[in-house]
Amino acid sequence: MRLLVISDIHANLEALEACLDAAPEYDRVYNLGDIVGYGANPNETTKRSRELGSIFVRGNHDKACSGLTNLDDFNPIAGLAALWTRQMLEPDHLAFLRELPQGPLEPMENVQLVHGSPRDEDEYLLMASDAYAQMAHAAVPLVFFGHTHVQRCFLLEADGPGKSLIPAYKSAKGKQTIKLELKANTKYMVNPGSIGQPRDNDPRAGFLLYDTDQKSITFHRVPYDIERAQKKIIEAGLPERLAIRLAEGR
Ligand code: ZN
Repeated sequence: MRLLVISDIHANLEALEACLDAAPEYDRVYNLGDIVGYGANPNETTKRSRELGSIFVRGNHDKACSGLTNLDDFNPIAGLAALWTRQMLEPDHLAFLRELPQGPLEPMENVQLVHGSPRDEDEYLLMASDAYAQMAHAAVPLVFFGHTHVQRCFLLEADGPGKSLIPAYKSAKGKQTIKLELKANTKYMVNPGSIGQPRDNDPRAGFLLYDTDQKSITFHRVPYDIERAQKKIIEAGLPERLAIRLAEGR
């Protein structure tokens, strides 16, 4: 089976459509949350996500924008965007986001989906040492996570040291892929990167394809019409910083 793993779309329709156009054939979609928040197209990205279907876990922005949680943990810019999103969302999409399940989910044997981390759906898993500590106790060998907007892979071999792999693309231009063969007796925590607001200094949208037969993961980066997404953010009256950061990839 071929699984398209996407995360942190953040209401960026241009980025989502570019990724779906570039995606290879797949059987199912695993969506790791934060469909909305920050960008100017919350209804459109929620509609598109629902059409793609399959398995979802909720993100912190899905919770905040649908009114499940308050905005105490959000910085002022994220909070403004969440309030704007809450006002803009159509009732049906709002209800869909509010009912998204909390991770971890196990959609198939030996695979777990979370937004933040297996122990806390809102945890930012940026430190390799934190990832290794959780992998040592992980019930499954392969965890897909989002939330940090950084495309990368932590791996822990049996009795070996942990490793942190960041896909080494030749440049930050054009469509590019990096393939990783999964080894036996090794635990993995893999982040597909963010579709709608990358924060790893590469402004291209990121996602991955997990092939269960080949036992491989292929990271993808895809250019999209950033200027159009920025223009929409400004025209919507959202904070300008949310437009600027798209071009910086951070
Ligand atoms: Zn996010």
